[in-house]
Amino acid sequence: MGQGFDTKSVHVTMKRNEGVPTKVTPIHQTSAFTFDNLEDIENFFNGEREYLYSRVGNPNTDELGQAVANLEAAPVGIATSSGLSAIMVGILSVAQAGDHIVASEDLYGGTYELLANELTAFGIEVSFVSFENDLETAIRENTVLVYTESITNPLLRVENLKNIVEIANKHNIRTMVDNTFATPYLVQPYSLGVNLVVHSATKYLGGHSDITAGVLAGEEELIAKAKTKTVNLGSNLSPFEAWLTVRGIKTLSVRMERHVNNAARLADALAEHPAVDKVYYPTNVSEKGNGAIVTIDITNKGDIATFFESLDWIKIVATLAGVETTVSYPIATSHRSLPESSQQALGITKGLVRISVGIEDADDIISTMKQALDQSKK
Ligand SMILES: *Cc1c(COP(=O)(O)O)cnc(C)c1O
Repeated sequence: MGQGFDTKSVHVTMKRNEGVPTKVTPIHQTSAFTFDNLEDIENFFNGEREYLYSRVGNPNTDELGQAVANLEAAPVGIATSSGLSAIMVGILSVAQAGDHIVASEDLYGGTYELLANELTAFGIEVSFVSFENDLETAIRENTVLVYTESITNPLLRVENLKNIVEIANKHNIRTMVDNTFATPYLVQPYSLGVNLVVHSATKYLGGHSDITAGVLAGEEELIAKAKTKTVNLGSNLSPFEAWLTVRGIKTLSVRMERHVNNAARLADALAEHPAVDKVYYPTNVSEKGNGAIVTIDITNKGDIATFFESLDWIKIVATLAGVETTVSYPIATSHRSLPESSQQALGITKGLVRISVGIEDADDIISTMKQALDQSKK
């Protein structure tokens, strides 16, 4: 039975308690599951019953992993405690000591730290390169994985995933893509041949800025390995957070539709503003829209401190993708850990503002942004 993306995203309830026909899955807020007898214990280990202990598996976390896998058109998925832990177990399902990873140079700051500081301590080598120029030349004998983001942060470069998969396949290397900014509403990397798709579900999947969670979806063999890592490293998600994320996913389509329309209107409205040097907003993400992050650079024409003080109801936060419009300052938060030379090379300037466009009235978002820019005009 074929279903459209919107239908699939609304119908994510899969783990109802059949004894009590609740409309939504109850929160299985329990650390463990009981056994009737010794045979019942054996049944868990031979696969005849599902649950033992919540670090190992829980109906709510399983429901979330499978829901995102379905939206990504991937066979299986798992939920983890954060986007970063999903990235970690995903990478560890492919790479071990002695292996090499080629990663994009403009990754999310937290991902950069994980790869540059932690994975290297496990003996995994990482090269950070420009995927537009140097992807293929960075591949070595021991390269096992190519890692990037479908839309990069904060400058919103749209990755050519087909091209990357082609290069990786030619060299027999796996691919992993962070699809947080695009969401499966806009881009489905697994359908383009990517082996592992990862999300910070903290962002659009949850959608309401009230949880920290991650999801990894992809090939069965790799997800099975990542699941073992999740259990052994203790990176499991709590049942309540999984439940909230599933609840968020039910409105993913309608939220994204509004988010991307508002963002397109805001990007247009700010393009000619006299305090704005440059607007970053992609044009080639998907036929459904181009994402809901708009980044502006006001280094030369505006005063950045005045701008941040003039935003009225728009809050300054170090996150994105909630229903409320918010702004962040990448050089001081998400990209603080990048070396200064990389910040400069990538265009992460002292006048760069990342706007996460919410689902309010577009007119309100535009007028509030415009008056803050008017006040900050040099
Ligand atoms: C937030 C974010 C992450 C990290 O996710 P957490 O849930 O904070 O661990 C990774 N990638 C991208 C693109 C993000 O925006």
